[in-house]
Amino acid sequence: MSDMNKQTKLLSTTENDIQTAAGILKNGGLVCLPTETVYGLGANALNETAVKNIYKAKGRAADNPLIVHIAKFDDIYPLVKNINRKARVLAEKFWPGPLTMIFEKSDKIPPAVTCGMDTVAIRMPSHPIARKIIEKSGLPIAAPSANISGGVSPVTAAHCYDDLKDRVDAVIDGGECEVGLESTVILMVGDTPRLLRPGFVTAEQIEAQIGKIIIDSAILNPLDKGQKVLSPGMKYKHYSPKAKVIIIDADDEKYYSYVNQVEGENIFALCYDEDVSHINKKCLTLGKHNDNESAANRLFYNLHQFDLMGADKILARLPKTDGVGLAVVNRLLRSAGFEVVKL
Ligand code: AMP
Ligand code: MG
Repeated sequence: MSDMNKQTKLLSTTENDIQTAAGILKNGGLVCLPTETVYGLGANALNETAVKNIYKAKGRAADNPLIVHIAKFDDIYPLVKNINRKARVLAEKFWPGPLTMIFEKSDKIPPAVTCGMDTVAIRMPSHPIARKIIEKSGLPIAAPSANISGGVSPVTAAHCYDDLKDRVDAVIDGGECEVGLESTVILMVGDTPRLLRPGFVTAEQIEAQIGKIIIDSAILNPLDKGQKVLSPGMKYKHYSPKAKVIIIDADDEKYYSYVNQVEGENIFALCYDEDVSHINKKCLTLGKHNDNESAANRLFYNLHQFDLMGADKILARLPKTDGVGLAVVNRLLRSAGFEVVKL
């Protein structure tokens, strides 16, 4: 067992506290740190014991590999075998930022990071605090989202602390995450890159740089029994608040009449600003209907809010799938266990 009775330190973003966080990482400890996507649960990616403690603290499945975070491009060379031309183009355009690329791994990466796979996921975050901590530690940092597995990813320090206090050495409070959902993940091994998880960097933006990519079918569809997955994270139930989430795929009128006729207490709507005046339930919104970036930014935040409000049921309007909307729909489908009411 890992130590589940740690004295979790709450740190700020002063130079002193950043130094403390970097020291904890160097000593093999666990630190929750802000990134532009969501808060990450970081550990030294080259220290097998530290990496194994990430899985224990989160209760993460032992076959769901981690993303390794670096502070500058040159830090990638010891970690991977081959960086092809398209990967260099994407790095030039989108790093630092919310894009993760998967490469053949070098022998330096311990098997616990990749769950025995011969590929490794790498990202260079843009968040200034994440970058400073990685730089000061002088290490590649393995970091999945800083939450108990299966729950909603954290976008504030309080979300991390509520989930992981006593299980991690420190939580750094760097405010709210700007993007609000996890990075885009793309497999760069093989002839045609394959999008495994949509995110703030969109398929359209990637194709504008490197031409056609494959969009993995698991992004919007539940897996068939026994289907082989390229990204193990696709297998698991994810992003679930305490409330049951039901997605409604309908036009305005049908959505309103469906939501308004549902009876019971603690039933809430997750919808758009324009919908609120038509609905007789308490609403949290994803912003304006055509603003996918606002939807990305508010989805996890609102799912956490619904928990605090004691929601039993969340009636969510199906978002659009263009641009960043694909990432919003991908996360919402998983938080609803793919339960969609089509009207
Ligand atoms: P998280 O860090 O919790 O946001 O999840 C990282 C995601 O990247 C999961 O869905 C993993 O399955 C996926 N991932 C990490 N490493 C690899 C890899 N080497 N090959 C395929 N998917 C990966
Ligand atoms: Mg996660």
